[in-house]
Amino acid sequence: MKAAVLKSIGQPFTVEDVPDPVIGPDEVLVATRTCGICRTDLHIQDGLAYVPNLPHIPGHEPAGVIADVGRDVTGYTIGQRVVPHLFISGGDCRFTRAGQHAQATHLQGIIGVTLPGGFAEFFKAPAENLLRLPENVPFDVGGLTSCAVITAVHAYRKSGLQLGQSAVVLGAGGIGLMLIQLLRQAGVRTIAVSRSPDSLRLAEQAGAELALSVEDANTAGCIREFAGAGKDGADCIFEMVGRAGTMRAAADYACRGGRIIVIGEEDEYPEIDTIQIAQRELEIIGSRNGGRQDAIDALEMLAVGIIKPHIAASFALDEINEAMSLVRNGEARGRVIVNVTSE
Ligand SMILES: [Zn+2]
Repeated sequence: MKAAVLKSIGQPFTVEDVPDPVIGPDEVLVATRTCGICRTDLHIQDGLAYVPNLPHIPGHEPAGVIADVGRDVTGYTIGQRVVPHLFISGGDCRFTRAGQHAQATHLQGIIGVTLPGGFAEFFKAPAENLLRLPENVPFDVGGLTSCAVITAVHAYRKSGLQLGQSAVVLGAGGIGLMLIQLLRQAGVRTIAVSRSPDSLRLAEQAGAELALSVEDANTAGCIREFAGAGKDGADCIFEMVGRAGTMRAAADYACRGGRIIVIGEEDEYPEIDTIQIAQRELEIIGSRNGGRQDAIDALEMLAVGIIKPHIAASFALDEINEAMSLVRNGEARGRVIVNVTSE
């Protein structure tokens, strides 16, 4: 099969012929139609946060059609449209029992991140990791379930936000825009903060009531005024960027007792002083991907239109390095998709 392969850290991908995946008795072979690109793909290429064994086939937002099923697989047949839940949780533990599959103690791998993924004509997954893609959800949008959409759904659930409360989405990229759509539907008053005027425009279209530049000195003051109700900031800040400076901004934007949900991952240390965390009783909460139920609910939210992902651009598999450059330059407004095979 044709695949995009990372052969050494810091190098472009090589598109070449590699052997097809071999499925075990509990696994399913999927013919990839599309696969989204995420910032984690940049991190893998750069050797940050995740270092898979090389050569590696990345791609963790795939969608496709079942091409073969292992002998012990029930409930799936060739031709069905599917997307994966990425975390192969590897058996029973307190976290998987609680539905927190992304925290599994015996994690065996993450499809496309530590295991071969969807920048290839075929990928494989355990049958228990697959979800049926509803007919009314196109492949390119459905593939985003496994990272961008599930991450937005899980982060929202971690926030505990209530009807009428206020939130700041700091970083209005692909996941941030979906989170804004979700928050609007949930009756949360939402402010988008970003560096890019184009992203702020899209954030307003997605449902943000205010769209502010992270570089504007008045941004924290505008957020306090917007929050109202005697609060000195927003109830919750979704930190989609994960840099030292954006964590500092998140602390300035949050109200006393407010929550900061950390979703963005960078190799940096937050510039929040502990006096502020202690005296203002800030809560800092990490959020990673989501569990199987979050994935099922994320697909449902796509099917009924609560979340409508914005696709910025599509590329052929042979153009993977151009597609990666667009994500790396921060020029893509929304998600960048690789079209792997057609019908
Ligand atoms: Zn991702």
